[in-house]
Parts: sequence; structure tokens; C-alpha cells
Amino acid sequence: MLLRKDYEMRERDVLAPYAMLSGESRGREYKEPACRFRSAFQRDRDRIIHSEAFRRLEYKTQVFVNHEGDYYRTRLTHTLEVAQISRGIARSLRLNEDLAETIALAHDLGHTPFGHSGEEALDNIMKKFGDRFEHNEQSLRVVTKLEYRYPEFPGLNLSFEVLDGISKHDEKRRVTLEAEIVNLADEIAYINHDLDDGLKSGLLKFKQLREVPLWQKLFKEVRPLYPTVPESIWKYQIIRRLIYLFVTDLQANIKHGIEKKKIRTIEDVNEKGRELSSFSLPLQSEISNLNTFLTENLYHHPRVRKEMDKATKIIDGLFDKYLKKPNLIPALFNRQIKATKERRICDYIAGMTDRYASDKYERLI
Ligand code: MG
Repeated sequence: MLLRKDYEMRERDVLAPYAMLSGESRGREYKEPACRFRSAFQRDRDRIIHSEAFRRLEYKTQVFVNHEGDYYRTRLTHTLEVAQISRGIARSLRLNEDLAETIALAHDLGHTPFGHSGEEALDNIMKKFGDRFEHNEQSLRVVTKLEYRYPEFPGLNLSFEVLDGISKHDEKRRVTLEAEIVNLADEIAYINHDLDDGLKSGLLKFKQLREVPLWQKLFKEVRPLYPTVPESIWKYQIIRRLIYLFVTDLQANIKHGIEKKKIRTIEDVNEKGRELSSFSLPLQSEISNLNTFLTENLYHHPRVRKEMDKATKIIDGLFDKYLKKPNLIPALFNRQIKATKERRICDYIAGMTDRYASDKYERLI
């Protein structure tokens, strides 16, 4: 039988000297005995999967709202794709796959219903109260404060390295390559699945993508190989090449940076890890073309915007209602943590799924 001690030993044997070893974790805020079977990061992953916030990702919008169809990504399937890509890259660079997977599974837990428009709406409301809303900070808040399952402590009491990975904009955090990789895997995942979903929905057209040089180059490669298949199969064949290209570019670029900057220890990573985790310069410009294309043609598409306006109306309406009648918020949610009335309402709404928020709106307003 494999025990935690065996995993820890295995990590020491197999992983790179600049990987974050679970046996070297700085621990947890509230002391707990270690698990006999699982490493610290494996245990954290399990806690995240069992959390309420994780299950709700299934009914939270990525780009297309839930009722638009079964094909499209939700926050949950997006998260699984990020985890899969992160694990692959971490494994190939002899980094800690468990840590990368765990951070990936938690990276979007703080997302509001209705995607970015939900986030924007909550942020605009909170600004009026001299506060802000930001989804990364909210992910951290979910796992350190809002999840309530353990009587001994608030949140999930995750390892510090996982928390550092989730709070990606905090300047004081300790940098690991595992966390940096998740950040980039997030970008690989969303660019590719948004192209896929965008084409499937008809909001993006194959023809339009001709203006994106990288897409066009791959299209020219794929078409002669499969001249008779439908467009949707070309799409899959282009996207799998895109993902492969992004992943292999990232692997090579990080490896190159590690050698060039003489990264040997986890301390070196903390100092220089941020600068060495990126795509190569030529690919960065291709990715920026793709991002601009998606923003102009998909994220700002009138049909997507219409849904966004609806989302803003729902979030604004709910916030107003709970402000006037705070006792509508369930007692169990209202219990814990010290927070202003506004922050509590914000936390409550941010935790809702799309359909729950719509349903509440219909019933209360
Ligand atoms: Mg994400």
C-alpha cells in the first residue's frame, strides 16, 4: 500500500530540484495531523472537489449562459480542461503535478454567476461602498472563509502553497512554477474552447478567422489532409494543433528560462519564477491576436452583450433586495465571519449559480 511517506519520497526522487515538494510544504493555518495516505496537496485537491463552490461551477457561465445549450463550456468543464493542461505541463517539466492540479481546480471558485458581466456588476456595486469585487480574491475568500464544513476552522484550511497559487495577484505570495503554469494553462484552455464554442454557436464564422494568421496557417495545413470532412472536424483538428503548439512552446520556453537563469532551487523560483513562465515572444504576439479577435468578435458580440445586460439587471436587483431585507439571506450563511452587510450580500450573490440567481430574481423581484 502506498502511504503519504512513500509519495513524499517519490517526489524527492523524481521531481526537479525547483519543484515544490509536498513534504516541504509550509503547512496550514490551523494545525492538523497529516493524512496517512495522501500528500498535503492530494488532500487539498480532495477538499476542493468536495466543496460546495466546486459543485456550483457546473451551473456557472463561462461565456455562454447555461440554458443556451449542452455543448458549451461551463465553469466546471473549463476548470477540468485547465487542470488537465496544467497536469500535463507540470509532469513533463518534473514539477509537482498534484499541486498544479489542485490550484487549477480551485482557480475559478470565486467566479460569480453570469461570467465576467456578473463580476463587473458586483464590482460596480461594491465600489459604491468603498470596496471592490475581484474573482481571484473571491476564490481565496471561498477556500479560507466561506466554505463551512469543519467545526474547527473556517474554510478548507488548505496548504499555504495552494493558497499562494490561488491568490495570483498578491505581490507578497511565494511563487511556484506549478502556480505559474496554471495561470498560463487557463489562457490555453479558454482561448481554445472559446474558439470552439464560438464557432459552434455560429457567433464566430470560419471565414472571419482568416484574419488571424496562426489560425489561417493551421487551416491550410489541415484542409488538404481532410478535404472532404465537415468544417466542424477541421475546427477540432486546428484546435488540437493550437493546444499542442501552445503547450510545447510553453514547455520549451520555461525549460530554456530555467537553464538560462540557472534556476536550481525553490528559492530561485520564488525570485525569478514569474519572469520565466511565459510563452515565447513570437507566440505571445499570435496569442494576443487571438485574444483581440475573441474580444472583438465573441465577447463583445451583441448576443453575448444582451445576456450580459440581463445579468447586470439580475445582480443589481438581487443586491438591492438583500440590502433592504438582509434576513432573506439564509441564517447558516449569515453566521460566521466578520463582514459588513454589503460584503456578506456580495459573498452570497457571488456564490450563486446562474439558474439560482435567475430563479431568485423571478421570485423576489
Ligand atoms: Mg479560468
